[in-house]
Amino acid sequence: MIKKLFTRKDFIESLKKAGDSYKIFVPVKEGDFHNFRPLDQETRPSLDFQNTRLSAKSVVYPQSERMFECITDPEAPEKGVLKEAEKDYTPRAIVGIRPCDAQSFHIVKKNFDNAEYRDPWWVRRFESTVLVGLGCSEPCPTCFCTSVGGGPFQEEFLDAILYELGDEYLVKAITPKGGDFLSKLTGGADADDASMKKAGALATGAAEKMTSTLPSDKLKDKKVNDLFKAPFWEDVAFSCINCGTCTFLCPTCWCFDIQDEVHGKQADRIRNWDTCMSPLFTLEGSGHNPREKKLQRVRQRFMHKLKYYVDKYDNGVQCSGCGRCVRYCPVNIDIRKVAGLMNEF
Ligand code: SF4
Ligand code: SF4
Repeated sequence: MIKKLFTRKDFIESLKKAGDSYKIFVPVKEGDFHNFRPLDQETRPSLDFQNTRLSAKSVVYPQSERMFECITDPEAPEKGVLKEAEKDYTPRAIVGIRPCDAQSFHIVKKNFDNAEYRDPWWVRRFESTVLVGLGCSEPCPTCFCTSVGGGPFQEEFLDAILYELGDEYLVKAITPKGGDFLSKLTGGADADDASMKKAGALATGAAEKMTSTLPSDKLKDKKVNDLFKAPFWEDVAFSCINCGTCTFLCPTCWCFDIQDEVHGKQADRIRNWDTCMSPLFTLEGSGHNPREKKLQRVRQRFMHKLKYYVDKYDNGVQCSGCGRCVRYCPVNIDIRKVAGLMNEF
């Protein structure tokens, strides 16, 4: 397996050259935040960040996606025939993804690729994507990956990983897919034992800095109806303004809505990310809404992540501990505290 050392500058240059074979996404500083953007000759990647504001989920699961299309022109021979819209499955690499966000794809995969249902677009795009992680040497106080099956340098869900060693990056392949991608990077020197030791120490030090946790050990044993009827939901939901920030930023939220749109003589069936925090999400055509109250929607978000997913997939909680919802909720609703209430109820 490839293990190489690059200077920061050489690493970025070699990524730009690899852009002929892959569509590459890198973190870019935008104002006070970082987000993933496609790499081209003008892009200025910045790997000095704690985490991106938005996760990289849209690289595999676009915020809006044309699923099907059809011609509405009454004169056209193909009028009204629904055809699959063209999709982009170009090999792609997400460089600089944090290990928690890589784990998120594996949490979400349980929904999009299981024995009952298979979403061919999500699956094919995920399979075309190489995850090149950036180990997290300074986790935020709001991060809690180690308590939900991850870790700041966890390799399990990555294809390759970067260790920041001063002015250099140690780049290590983890899977054959990661090795194929790294083989396209020119330059760099073979990593020596001293750098490998430094990388190991960095990973150990980072894990020791993680103190925040999400309690979940008793969730599986709870009865769904007991948690559903628990009295604490009133308090949990009280301050929520249903802005949807938590679900929009969350790398493990997958809900979508499907809409038909007509432009001229072309009709598109589009799927868009949606949020259970919006009353419209469950509004039925009859006007009935099974989750018309805020309490019901807030409860749904936490019950889905911390109980329904747990029971259905036996794969831990539907959360990778990235801490985004904790950091960006305008009224400080904290999933760690809610998990604590549920776990101890
Ligand atoms: S970010 Fe906070 S206020 Fe906004 S919907 Fe989520 S829990 Fe409610
Ligand atoms: S629930 Fe919150 S902490 Fe967990 S993955 Fe989603 S945004 Fe991150």
